[in-house]
Amino acid sequence: MVEINRNVSNIKVLGYATKAVGQPLEPFTYKQPKIDTHDVLVSVTHCGLCHTDIHAINNYYGITTFPFVPGHEIVGYVSAVGSAVSGLKEGDRVGIGWQGRSCMKCEWCLQGEEQLCMDIVSSGTWVPYGGFSTSVCVDSRFAYPIPDTMPSEVAAVLMCAGITVYSPLRSYSAQQGKKIGIIGVGGLGHLALQFAHALNYEVTAISSSPDKKEQALAFGADHFIVSNNQASMQRAMFSFDLLLFTAHGKIKWEVLLNTLKKNGELILTGFPDIVFNSTDLVAHQLTITGSFLGNRVTMREMLSFAQEHSIVPKVELMPMTKVNEAIRKVKENKARYRIVLYNDIEKVGL
Ligand SMILES: [Zn+2]
Ligand SMILES: [Zn+2]
Repeated sequence: MVEINRNVSNIKVLGYATKAVGQPLEPFTYKQPKIDTHDVLVSVTHCGLCHTDIHAINNYYGITTFPFVPGHEIVGYVSAVGSAVSGLKEGDRVGIGWQGRSCMKCEWCLQGEEQLCMDIVSSGTWVPYGGFSTSVCVDSRFAYPIPDTMPSEVAAVLMCAGITVYSPLRSYSAQQGKKIGIIGVGGLGHLALQFAHALNYEVTAISSSPDKKEQALAFGADHFIVSNNQASMQRAMFSFDLLLFTAHGKIKWEVLLNTLKKNGELILTGFPDIVFNSTDLVAHQLTITGSFLGNRVTMREMLSFAQEHSIVPKVELMPMTKVNEAIRKVKENKARYRIVLYNDIEKVGL
């Protein structure tokens, strides 16, 4: 156990915050939050930029409080531990995802499904402030040791994008050779293709960009379909046991649902607007379901699975002091495939 100075409230954290809905991030200095008994303080070295950060800046979910410091794909080093922390010590390299704590007592937490915690709104890593900063304070039970040889920028992306696709793929993969269609070959999709291939699915990448074909096949897809090519989508009717939706753009939902076999399931990992006629849904006994992050056990499993199967996100590294430029790139859909910010705040200043 490392003794820490509890009188830390005068220590300042440097970060980037948006002060109001939709505004660019600005330098922001705040008092370091109190380290509770189960908490760890983590010095941030890397933080990925996720679409959810941009949604939250725009208060899309209606739960953002301002000033808001985004950032929930964090890798860094433990710099202080609370008195009840076990299994982590100062200097350990850890990853932290969207969820930085949970109530640990609701029915979902007690079942080990912490991502469904009834108090999920206050469980976000960005409460009170997130990873676009010099340090974050989270519950140590949501800080995951990173395999020694895994680069920090790789681990950062796995903490949110990785678990988001691994968790549903893992829970549906009981039958070997299940046919899956993965919609979107972007930040989430390119990881989903790699995980699905490693989990022995027969994988079809479905994308609106024909020029993604070569890369989709390299990521592990067995087949490729252009989503707005009507003839190809029609040829794929009744093809898939599962569809995993990871995209952001518009799609013809009825055409997509028609590619599912009877009793098939569409799993949403993002938050698309869906409009469709329910006739086929009922007549073919289809299911539309959602998947949110993953629990703590799955998070640890995902990290070792990714390490074992050499699953590596394609990352573009940018300095954290260029966070607004990075956000612009993601908004313009120019990130290939995921941007991770390395922390240069202390070196460069704000
Ligand atoms: Zn995310
Ligand atoms: Zn709970």
